Amino acid sequence: MAVQAGPPVVLAITPEPSSTPRSTPDAAPTRVATSTAAPTPTRAIESEVEPVRVLFTGDINPGRCPAALALAADDFTLPYRDVADALRAADLAVGSLDGALSDVSPPAACAPEREYNLIGPTRTVEGLTFAGFDVINLATNHAQDCGRQGFVCDGRALADTLRVLRAAGIAPVGAGATLSAARQPVVLERRGVRIALLAVTAVGEFTWAAADAAGTAPLSDAALRDVLADIEAARHTADVVIVLAHWGSEYVDTPSAEQRRWAERMIAAGATVIVGNHPHVVQPVEPLGDGLVAYALGNFVFDQDPAATRQGLVLEATFTTTGLSSWRALPIEIVDLQRPEWR
Ligand SMILES: [Zn+2]
Repeated sequence: MAVQAGPPVVLAITPEPSSTPRSTPDAAPTRVATSTAAPTPTRAIESEVEPVRVLFTGDINPGRCPAALALAADDFTLPYRDVADALRAADLAVGSLDGALSDVSPPAACAPEREYNLIGPTRTVEGLTFAGFDVINLATNHAQDCGRQGFVCDGRALADTLRVLRAAGIAPVGAGATLSAARQPVVLERRGVRIALLAVTAVGEFTWAAADAAGTAPLSDAALRDVLADIEAARHTADVVIVLAHWGSEYVDTPSAEQRRWAERMIAAGATVIVGNHPHVVQPVEPLGDGLVAYALGNFVFDQDPAATRQGLVLEATFTTTGLSSWRALPIEIVDLQRPEWR
């Protein structure tokens, strides 16, 4: 919120010399990405509570090779063996599911000739739970994938995804049974810091929700007014507003003019941090205005071959009631067509 609430907090007025947070929990990796500029966030230095630490991941494909490998091993925790400790140690772990969790159809094969339907078994949620995810972004172009049933199937695959995530205690964001449900923020409070998360997709118009149809929350020039209104409304009730944006062009490592334009408007409307996905490669993490934009974190659990699609980032951001406190980008590399390891 623009006006500081609660007890007074003394703010640092000099830039921070490094991106290293004040304290590093045991389970967190210590490697810092060298591809990002050192941040200079304003930091609360005499706040009584430890900042809330949130980890954001890149795209997670629940289908194809990750599904085939998990089914063969009868173990859906396989992708998360190297990263679960760190994700669980965060106050919040936020993932981006580039697919659907449903048994309306078996997943596509793990084969050289790749299908582009990313449906995964509902049991995939066992891995998401093991990894400690609190929130999963569903505003993606694969949110309605139904395998052999096609790419929408009357919202049945998406309904299954919503149901299994909620049953596991994981909050879905960015999709719902109606447009207004898809636009609803998830609001969570940790140590007195209220964090609102919104998710929108500019990719896959066919997945967008309507007043009377299930789907994802849209991002487009036409939808931008609603997105900005949702950010402003969330800002009235939350200290921190996070926008998860599925946008940009696949395999392009620089943000488009459109991404930059939308990011500027979202930050101006009150977004604290924007976390992008969809390009399958890493795009820059940059301070913008009072906030931070990670244009794309690349892949996290995915079965693509090119080297750049096997490198990703996990964004760590810490927050107080006055906003962003610190951030750093933690590099991962995907091995065995599905498993992220710290680099
Ligand atoms: Zn995508």
